[in-house]
Amino acid sequence: MKIPVLLPNIFNHPFTYDDRGLNLKKGDYVEIPFGKKNKIGVVWDDFEKDTSKNFSIKPVTRKLKIPSLNRQTIDFLKWFSEYNIVPLGMSLKLHLLSNEAIEEIPDKEFESYRLVKNKYDFTLSKEQEQSLDELKIKNKEFRVHVLQGTTGSGKTIVYFNSIKDKIDKGYQGLILLPEIGLTSEFEKKFIDFFGFIPAIWHSGITKKKKKIIWNGLTNGKIKVVIGARSALFLPFNKLGIIIVDEEHDQSYKQDEGVIYNARDMAISRASFENIPIDLVSAVPSIETYENIKKRKYSYSRIFNRYKNAQLPKHQIIDLNKYKLNNQSWISSKTIEKAKNHLESGDQVLFFINRRGFSPYVFCQNCLKVYSCPHCSINLVYHKNKKKLLCHYCGFTTILKRTCDRNISGSCKFTLSGPGVEKIFEEVKKFFPGYKSLIFSSDTMNKKSSSNDLQKIINNEVKILIGTQLISKGYHFPNLNCIVVLDIDLSSLGHDLRGAEKNLQLYHQLSGRAGRAGKPATVYFQTYNLKSDTISKLTNSDPFIFLENELQLRKKNNLPPFERFIALILSSKNEKKLENESYRLKKLLEKNLNGKILGPINAPIYKIRKNFRNRLLIRSKKNHKIQESLAIILKKFEFSSGMKLTVDVDPISFN
Ligand SMILES: [Zn+2]
Ligand SMILES: [Zn+2]
Repeated sequence: MKIPVLLPNIFNHPFTYDDRGLNLKKGDYVEIPFGKKNKIGVVWDDFEKDTSKNFSIKPVTRKLKIPSLNRQTIDFLKWFSEYNIVPLGMSLKLHLLSNEAIEEIPDKEFESYRLVKNKYDFTLSKEQEQSLDELKIKNKEFRVHVLQGTTGSGKTIVYFNSIKDKIDKGYQGLILLPEIGLTSEFEKKFIDFFGFIPAIWHSGITKKKKKIIWNGLTNGKIKVVIGARSALFLPFNKLGIIIVDEEHDQSYKQDEGVIYNARDMAISRASFENIPIDLVSAVPSIETYENIKKRKYSYSRIFNRYKNAQLPKHQIIDLNKYKLNNQSWISSKTIEKAKNHLESGDQVLFFINRRGFSPYVFCQNCLKVYSCPHCSINLVYHKNKKKLLCHYCGFTTILKRTCDRNISGSCKFTLSGPGVEKIFEEVKKFFPGYKSLIFSSDTMNKKSSSNDLQKIINNEVKILIGTQLISKGYHFPNLNCIVVLDIDLSSLGHDLRGAEKNLQLYHQLSGRAGRAGKPATVYFQTYNLKSDTISKLTNSDPFIFLENELQLRKKNNLPPFERFIALILSSKNEKKLENESYRLKKLLEKNLNGKILGPINAPIYKIRKNFRNRLLIRSKKNHKIQESLAIILKKFEFSSGMKLTVDVDPISFN
């Protein structure tokens, strides 16, 4: 009998095979010959439509010994492919582990996921109890609930309880987290609560671990996965609940390879599974806020912090009054305030969202900025590495260049603007005798960094100089003073979500301070006193900001009120890129029920030697714009060397 088999590749349709009388059914994993190799695929439910080609049908090699892929997951993968305009085979690839399915894992490998120790008893506060009750309402079918709570209010324990409820009934649970590198603290809390080890899933775990988890989910030997975006595609055999923690976090958007938003896809997966999903956040995203308002999502809120710790106060340091010295970025007033904190035993954090020493390096003679030869972006000087670095493509070079204007030959460089390394030097000068440490992805993503982390927790390190990495979920009990050095600079950007991003960043950042109950302050150095940005950003009721922002979006027909789809074309050949962009625009204008903006040169016009143009499609949300766009794109034949990336609901506009 003929059967359709979907393969994890770039095709948007299944291939036809002969089932050799194996009586195969939809969802069965099979091995089949494809080209010169054998591959793993899944028996699909509809055939390729275009069967005009005359081809010989090969037989299936064998059926794999794994429970078949359930209907819900198949439906989810189909929908995922249509929504994100991704070939069906590529969405199957997200599900199949490096193109394989794991049939058998020795039982002893699952031992560590079973009960290992006694559970610790967590008592819930009244507010937590109430929230838990609300989570449990209607949780036998699909519904979206938003659990909002100030940073440090104990939301985790609330949703742990609702997961436990599901596990006790024989279901599996999935917790999605944005920054999976930071789970050791989280994992410990989990083990204390549940008494067993969760399966941790992200791109950095070993291949062996991945196989164990994949297999353990098909047969129910693994109960709970804590994972990054890609955990969404795992073969849960009986998924009962999904939690999206820090749902507002923009790193849920996968923006390379297959582009999708894991939070939105999690909601869709929950709907296909007909199970509850909880979105957890201190400040919900604009989209989520809108859905709360429309009562599409139910909602509960925890106001108090754990042990009634107070949220930090905010104070502005006026840089017009306390002027910065030349090549200095910390004002005299700031130094005075920080010293007071240090003397009373507090830890101090200087926040600047820029890696390296200096973001602008230019020559005094020829005035040329040092930029990346492969990307249209400035190189950042890293003093620790003694190198200039491109933060996009990783290009590095030394601080030497032939000058256009200088007879002696070399450029005479000036380093301008601060990065964490520059602030680190200043801190050492102004606060001698205090141990300080840089907290950025250059220093903290190494094996040795857990040691440093412990030193911060123990208050051995007194001063931190950090990028936004530090805003993510850390618990430093002595951190009671945060200085934001460059709020004016960091609010610039070509991004409709700039304001929302800043709100989230400063809220998360503030949430790091005062966690152990001592009074804490966040200082903002700024020239711009008239701007109400700071007060908006730091208002203890984020709904005021969200409401403003939502009205602004409505007025300007921006998402979530309209659907945006970005098309990014790239090529090494500038002329060809230009022509193809206009050719595509014409075709879209003729055939698509939406507004086509562009093409424009992307703000970062060149990345890794490829020039980039952007088109933006704006349409009403209820139009099935993806469906018609997919048909047009299929017809459009690109000339060689052109690449097209489709980004549905784009977040970054670089
Ligand atoms: Zn580069
Ligand atoms: Zn020069």
